Amino acid sequence: MERTHSDILVAGGGIAGMIATACFAAAGFETTCIEPQAQAPDEGAADADLRSTAFLEPAIALLKAAGVWERLSPHATDLRIMRLADAGGETNEMREVADFDASTLGQARFGVNLPNVQIRKVLLEHLDTLPGATLLTGRKVVRATARTREMILTLDDGTQHATPLAVAADGRNSFLRQNAGIKARRWDYGQQALVFAVSHPVPHDNVSTEIHRTGGPFTLVPLPDRGGVPHSAVVWMETGPKAAALAALPAEDFNRAATERSCGILGPLELATGRGRWPISSLIAERLDGPRVALVAEAAHVMPPIGAQGLNTSLGDLSDLLGLVAAARDAGQDHGAHQILARYSKGRHGETLARVLGVDALNRAAMAESQGLRDLRRAGLKLLYGLRPLREGAMRAGLGAGRLPDPGA
Ligand SMILES: Cc1cc2nc3c(=O)[nH]c(=O)nc-3n(C[C@H](O)[C@H](O)[C@H](O)COP(=O)(O)OP(=O)(O)OC[C@H]3O[C@@H](n4cnc5c(N)ncnc54)[C@H](O)[C@@H]3O)c2cc1C
Repeated sequence: MERTHSDILVAGGGIAGMIATACFAAAGFETTCIEPQAQAPDEGAADADLRSTAFLEPAIALLKAAGVWERLSPHATDLRIMRLADAGGETNEMREVADFDASTLGQARFGVNLPNVQIRKVLLEHLDTLPGATLLTGRKVVRATARTREMILTLDDGTQHATPLAVAADGRNSFLRQNAGIKARRWDYGQQALVFAVSHPVPHDNVSTEIHRTGGPFTLVPLPDRGGVPHSAVVWMETGPKAAALAALPAEDFNRAATERSCGILGPLELATGRGRWPISSLIAERLDGPRVALVAEAAHVMPPIGAQGLNTSLGDLSDLLGLVAAARDAGQDHGAHQILARYSKGRHGETLARVLGVDALNRAAMAESQGLRDLRRAGLKLLYGLRPLREGAMRAGLGAGRLPDPGA
């Protein structure tokens, strides 16, 4: 059977897979991305991805290198302050508030927020015109055979594609990860995230607010105004049955419940989109490499949506992998060789594990039900905020340790 050849094959054209394809193609690799979904649904569609993604500054640098930032930036809202609040007292009121202000690190912003529907649309347009990038939609990988010098991927349409390096961006149930026999530890929290956008009378002022109370955090992330009215994206984490009950409420009752849960900080909230629901779990793969395959993004790690760590960690994977693979090529070496991929896994696994465990701890603290644990959470927030080195360390760690230029350097 005839086979096509690419320098790199990316399995999975979610946001991470499409950004990976753009990065490798922009670096001069002939890159083919395979994605089962035929097209990206619009915001009004029943299966639309209503989430938004906060891209932190190091991730923006990668988007610039991939040549896609110019197309994305018109849809972006700056995030200037990350506000953490504890509302774990007897009443639904904020009893401890800590502002993490980008200006204290000498930065104008932490990052930007973009609606996922818009990100997918822009990435599809970008890949369509990017030399060296090919996107095959409506097809999935059903077989992967690693040979000494190449990986052969067979798709469900029967076609075969060969490459020195397959990048697994095929999500949390990654076929390529399982096919390579790479074990992964996965655990659930019995939580779900309700995601939707709201309008509100009080301007968000480019402040992202995460309010912790039993059940999980409630996060408001700034979106662009629509028709002169302020809007925000919301991620509301709750236990599964409570999330299901909230999703089934009539819009008016839901607006009231969301306003109360937000402690009323932006005034009355009003639904501007439908309500999506995402199960919350964590996953960490035991390693990030296999024969002729590198795991990135949710194929390698999954974490609850707290502190915008998920996709930002994924783009950290991509940045490291791209650096190693391009350096190998420039040195005339086989860019999918075992030693290159082993170096990627060794260099990256520790950071991804630390982030999965760190976010796990934050989520467990946010879920706390007993008053004693809630008071401990409040005390922790107070301590973190009160000590400047600790606060600035936390901000740098959240942005991706070592990836942000030190304004004092
Ligand atoms: C509620 C919520 C809010 C979030 N907010 C943020 C945030 O603000 N900032 C942040 O950094 N992260 C955030 N995240 C995390 C972020 O959304 C995820 O990390 C990201 O969407 C996952 O991207 P992915 O491309 O790895 O996986 P997916 O989006 O799952 O993509 C995997 C793709 O692989 C395809 N696929 C599956 N099987 C195959 C196969 N056999 N062959 C080929 N393709 C295949 C699928 O069709 C899919 O398109 C959030 C997550 C949630 C749940």
